[in-house]
Amino acid sequence: MERYQRNIAIKEIGLEGQKKLLSANVLVCGCGGLGSGVISCLASAGIGCLGLVDCDSVELSNFNRQFIHKTENIGKLKVLSAKERIKDINPDIRVKTYSVQLDSENYKEIVKDYDLIVDCFDSYRSKFLLNEIAVKTNKPLIHGGVTEFRGQVTTIIPHKTACLNCLFPDADLNEKIPQGNVSPVVNLVASIQALEAIKFILNIDSKLQGHLFIIDALNLDFKSLKINPSKVCSICS
Ligand SMILES: [Zn+2]
Repeated sequence: MERYQRNIAIKEIGLEGQKKLLSANVLVCGCGGLGSGVISCLASAGIGCLGLVDCDSVELSNFNRQFIHKTENIGKLKVLSAKERIKDINPDIRVKTYSVQLDSENYKEIVKDYDLIVDCFDSYRSKFLLNEIAVKTNKPLIHGGVTEFRGQVTTIIPHKTACLNCLFPDADLNEKIPQGNVSPVVNLVASIQALEAIKFILNIDSKLQGHLFIIDALNLDFKSLKINPSKVCSICS
């Protein structure tokens, strides 16, 4: 009770809401920049079980934004490094780790145990595959993307709101996302993703279900565009 008293003090959360958070299961795909912010926020909020998917190891070039990892963990699997950090933040959280490249087969055994998925992946190919998996398994997906000073977030409710493929039907999956990024912008996007996850678990209506939130952090310009499901989407229609 003491750990969560500031959550419980909010009328939209309260004791009942905290119980919902504590019994929620969230799969975080990617333990890099976006994952660092999402995992930290969800662990401190008291999400009961966090699943972590990432096949990479910690590298020195990660540290300008991936604050969940410690320098001494360079070379260690990111999922294990992230798990260590979660245990520091909140030892009550159950953590399951999947050090795999998610593919069109192994997802079946992984996503079935979770209420929702948070997209913290860092390539178009992995993001679009995750979108397809979320639609196939009917799991809500909180998409986030960031590059340089720009970011975007939307909450995808399969067969109800637009999926990633509805939004970007002609995306070139081989194209590389520009590498540059800076911690405050990454964390801004990650914070909104974590907020969306918490609101979903608490059954609080979110404007981002059916809207794409677009951040231009250089000019501090934030906007939210209404997006409709595509009738000809090859993934969700
Ligand atoms: Zn679609």
